[in-house]
Amino acid sequence: MRDFSADHRWLSINTATVRKSRGAELPLPEIIEACARRDIRAISPWRDQVAAAGLETISRLVKAHGLELSGYCRGGMFPAADTQGLRAARNDNRRAVDEARELNAACLVLVVGGLPGALAGKPAHKDIALARGQVRDGIGELLEYARSANMPLAIEPLHPMYAADRACINTMEQALDICDELDPARSGALGVAVDVYHVWWDPKLKAQIERAGRKRLLALHVCDWLTPTVDMLNDRGMMGDGVIDIPQIRGWMEVCGFAGYSEVEIFSTGNWWQRDCAEVLDICIQRHRSAV
Ligand code: ZN
Repeated sequence: MRDFSADHRWLSINTATVRKSRGAELPLPEIIEACARRDIRAISPWRDQVAAAGLETISRLVKAHGLELSGYCRGGMFPAADTQGLRAARNDNRRAVDEARELNAACLVLVVGGLPGALAGKPAHKDIALARGQVRDGIGELLEYARSANMPLAIEPLHPMYAADRACINTMEQALDICDELDPARSGALGVAVDVYHVWWDPKLKAQIERAGRKRLLALHVCDWLTPTVDMLNDRGMMGDGVIDIPQIRGWMEVCGFAGYSEVEIFSTGNWWQRDCAEVLDICIQRHRSAV
């Protein structure tokens, strides 16, 4: 297992972690500059942040600083209530692949979606099996496009509390079943993003990481699970402040050959988004060395 204690060579910042500084929206170019000043070598930006600054601007900045993208957030949201919605999702996902390609991302992260309309508070139906079928079909179709762009797709299983509105793929086992079905040859074009926040509780986690193997372990997202957690979405903890044994999970992945970045992804309305970006990044560096 790699020793992270001496430097932050393998730290990546998911730019949602500092999307707000002192409660105010922080533009992506400023986030990139702040990371570069600290010799942070990788980021994982969100599409809305890229769109706000312009894809060309971000592409130029990433290249100028020699930054790598540990991933691109995000594609997915495949299920829809009608054919028009399914087509819109397909087209939007192809654009996400194109953007990821332009930014030379290591993978496009997929948050696959749940019941159509649920995120807006108006679920169109209760058929989660139908949604899961649309997810499988959507990934299958996108995979062909992504292969032609040489952009790996990383399915991110989300904690079951998000099954209705964000992702009906909730375990590594489910995600890997889809990988087996759609990419039985283990080509490297399809795999998983292991976000410790979503999967740490899973009694099958170690076995499923071993099942995934190097070719399908495409990303590692880290933060911590706080007790108590006061918000389902935006109360993630800093590594070391909660109950997840992050080094153990990273160790399981590295035994399988994972050698990528450890990407810090923290959504935190009440705490980290209230602090100054500089302070948050400095603490990310410290905790990367001591708690990951
Ligand atoms: Zn994640």
